[in-house]
Amino acid sequence: MNASPRQADGTDAPLPPLTPDELQHYSRHLLIPQIGRIGQQRLKAARVLVIGAGGLGSPLALYLAAAGVGTLGIVDFDTVDRSNLHRQVLYTVADVGSPKLEAATRRLQALNPHIAIVPHALRLTSDNALDVIRDYDLVVDGTDNFATRYLVNDACVLLGKPNVYAAIFRFEGMLSVFAHRDGPCYRCLYPEPPPPDLVPSCAEGGVLGVLPGIVGALQAAEAIKLLTGIGESLAGRLLQFDALRMSLREFPVERDPHCAVCGARPSIRQLIDYDQFCAGPKDPLAVPEIDVAELRATLAAPGAPLLVDVRSADEAAVARIDGSTLIPLPELEDAIDRLDPAAPLILYCQGGVRSERAGRLLMRGGFTQVRHLRGGINAWSTAQAATHVQAQAQAKTQTPPQSTASRSAA
Ligand SMILES: [Zn+2]
Repeated sequence: MNASPRQADGTDAPLPPLTPDELQHYSRHLLIPQIGRIGQQRLKAARVLVIGAGGLGSPLALYLAAAGVGTLGIVDFDTVDRSNLHRQVLYTVADVGSPKLEAATRRLQALNPHIAIVPHALRLTSDNALDVIRDYDLVVDGTDNFATRYLVNDACVLLGKPNVYAAIFRFEGMLSVFAHRDGPCYRCLYPEPPPPDLVPSCAEGGVLGVLPGIVGALQAAEAIKLLTGIGESLAGRLLQFDALRMSLREFPVERDPHCAVCGARPSIRQLIDYDQFCAGPKDPLAVPEIDVAELRATLAAPGAPLLVDVRSADEAAVARIDGSTLIPLPELEDAIDRLDPAAPLILYCQGGVRSERAGRLLMRGGFTQVRHLRGGINAWSTAQAATHVQAQAQAKTQTPPQSTASRSAA
């Protein structure tokens, strides 16, 4: 029934005992024969690193903390934004504007006071990844970009740490376990990143709010199985979840003997520059960029250029830049005749990917004065919010303190 009182990886390090409080807290785990007291002690001894406290990171951190993972490290450097709340269930409206790590630590510690939360307030890079990951038994990847995903994969392979991977987009999720024993790694499955302008992020393409909840919970289940040494892991299998069809499909993933990092003769023996690796070959037709500050100044000056929003009408209804004209990217080609190819024109979208594509289309069509907004309306809104906070702070310092008399009259 129960395994021997050893670590899940078979090493002989003694397992920490459970206190009477913990026995009560985890009683429904202890009742499961495959977990029992030994399994719970293994969870208590475990050190797990969750990378990213966002959509996937929320259910991951909540369930791993609730399950009693003794040391839960979390890497994040972001602050809570209102647009996070439809899926990032770690946070509430009151947390908007606060660092995610602070809000997450508070919430997780309140959920389970028996565990230690270790916040890592940093962006994971080639310079720090090995040092951060080294201290953990297992990594759970909740990142939303390819550069970090390859970085996490390579670091896990180099350090020999299992990596529970997931990725989500709109209605679909992918899930696997990489770098576990003789299993494949992420590069065995995807040796090269996709071209950057073909991959919209959640900020660009959207995501169903409940999707990371489902996929992140599956990821947490995989982590718990690996930590307790039970069941059959997803190593060597890729699970695809489709919320629209409500279907799960499974694909075999084999280890590639020629893999650049886990193959027989690896060419990657230390971490590389992942931003460069994922940026891909530069398109010779570069669309000039404009940043938020410059766009603001341009729009405030007389004779402002035509500002075109290439997102969908639904996206524009949520937030748009005043004075912009909506021409969704799929309709741009048909609208080209209505635009003056010699007049200055500025394009924007949600994050700066579609506007770049639109810029190329126009430039190939003979437009000579096209620019696009770097970071899209996401960057614009962040800057607007910062200005608003600044203005409020300034107004506060400039207003003389109210007298007792006027306060009581108010
Ligand atoms: Zn590999």
